[in-house]
Amino acid sequence: MSTDCLFCKIAAGDIPATIHYEDERLIVLEDINPQAPVHLLLVPREHIPTTLDLTSEDNDLVGHIFQVAGKIARELGFADSGFRIVNNCNEAGGQTVWHLHFHLLGQRQLAWPPG
Ligand code: 5GP
Ligand code: ZN
Repeated sequence: MSTDCLFCKIAAGDIPATIHYEDERLIVLEDINPQAPVHLLLVPREHIPTTLDLTSEDNDLVGHIFQVAGKIARELGFADSGFRIVNNCNEAGGQTVWHLHFHLLGQRQLAWPPG
């Protein structure tokens, strides 16, 4: 836990958020500024700043996050039509919160390339 981290505070329940799913390893919350009809953030409970800080010990965690994303996409009914999982890393990648997270975007046609 990092005391000045937004997602650590949300995971601890100190800052409110709309939680869609949670388990012992991650929370899934609604993005405050949604870019699609469904825009969820999959956030590990552990404070990992960026993708570059992942180690081999996190392989199972990352796999679990992707499995949960797929399960949610199926449950919400847009798995077959399609969706996107995004990780922004560092400033040029568009990262604004320095606690690893994956965006799950769905329920609209998504453009490529992204901006
Ligand atoms: P990033 O830009 O780091 O990839 O993604 C951070 C995301 O967190 C953004 O999409 C932004 O809208 C979202 N966000 C920022 N502050 C809050 C907040 O206080 N609550 C929630 N639920 N989302 C937030
Ligand atoms: Zn954190």
